[in-house]
Amino acid sequence: MAIPFFKEMRIGGYLLKQKLLGRKRYPLVLMLEPLFRCNLACAGCGKIDYPDAILNRRMTAQECWDAADECGAPMVAIPGGEPLIHKEIGEIVRGLVARKKFVSLCTNALLLEKKLDLFEPSPYLFFSVHLDGLRDHHDKAVSQKGVFDRAVSAIKAAKARGFTVNVNATIFDGHPAEEIAKYLDFCAELGVGVSMSPGYAYERAPDQEHFLNRTKTKKLFRDVFALGKGKKWNFMHSGLFLDFLAGNQEYECTPWGMPARNIFGWQKPCYLLGEGYAKTFKELMETTDWDSYGTGRYEKCADCMAHCGYEPTAATAALNNPLKAMWVSLRGIKTSGPMAPEIDMSKQRPAQYIFSEQVQKKLSEIRRDEALAAQQKAAQKASTAA
Ligand code: SF4
Ligand code: SF4
Repeated sequence: MAIPFFKEMRIGGYLLKQKLLGRKRYPLVLMLEPLFRCNLACAGCGKIDYPDAILNRRMTAQECWDAADECGAPMVAIPGGEPLIHKEIGEIVRGLVARKKFVSLCTNALLLEKKLDLFEPSPYLFFSVHLDGLRDHHDKAVSQKGVFDRAVSAIKAAKARGFTVNVNATIFDGHPAEEIAKYLDFCAELGVGVSMSPGYAYERAPDQEHFLNRTKTKKLFRDVFALGKGKKWNFMHSGLFLDFLAGNQEYECTPWGMPARNIFGWQKPCYLLGEGYAKTFKELMETTDWDSYGTGRYEKCADCMAHCGYEPTAATAALNNPLKAMWVSLRGIKTSGPMAPEIDMSKQRPAQYIFSEQVQKKLSEIRRDEALAAQQKAAQKASTAA
């Protein structure tokens, strides 16, 4: 997901308003997942490992708009699954744009060229195309040949039609800094902005061996940024988040900054980690034990440096300390010298595993709803016949 933090006055104004209102926790971006079904099965994906009954579920357009209204964040990112599989995706996006939400539609682009007619170019809409690297790397990451070429063709087609397009890359261990730098050169030539995030170590992802730990992440990003000195790479991140990735900032995550809503409800505590669900956004904010999550507090958060946890932290840090933010943007990212101290991990609570329990609960709900719908249909048929 690509988010031009602070590039839009409205986001800056929104942040300032929250500060003036003295709010401690507030959402910046709603992560809206209207479905989990995808037309790819990437090795590092932690989103699609569900039984068919769950993969076949969709949030309705109305549920999507209600979530945006309820949460009130100025931006809505629509990841998935693959949102372009959703039959009402055009309508969903139209409704969000009509609400003046900045919408980032995250797609693997396999269906993008075919579905461009569903959308209209707007300063509120941008496509965020999943592109993990250059051709061989990306096709390997998504476990299918030819996807890179189709994605690039779709990016060009969308740009030619007047849409704003960015790309988002998830970075895994074993991706050499030199290759990432070449990929960033390629994106600059293509004329797209880039968001990059180290892959979160999803417990359900098929490939468990290539998730980066925090030390490796910082070292890798330092190497990449060192190769980028003097180049015009267009990152869709705040300077302080990039500085954090390079190990120069000590941040704690702010998971409420990017709350996630999907077919299960409002996910606790964040887009990456499903540790329970709330029925409403208010319930999510009020009943989540926020202090029990984050690096140094919970084992499953140990290696997380993902944008959805730390970009809101960096945004708040920039608001609280604009001179520091300006200094980083003028000086560029520091790529040598000592790093900021790492968070103490000695007191983190052990991981809890509740995935299967949640899936079973959802499956029972689905069976109950289906039985109810069948009963209603039969009763209707009987009354028509009588
Ligand atoms: S395209 Fe995205 S949602 Fe689909 S399998 Fe890959 S990472 Fe998962
Ligand atoms: S560190 Fe924060 S953003 Fe990352 S998984 Fe934990 S709660 Fe979520």
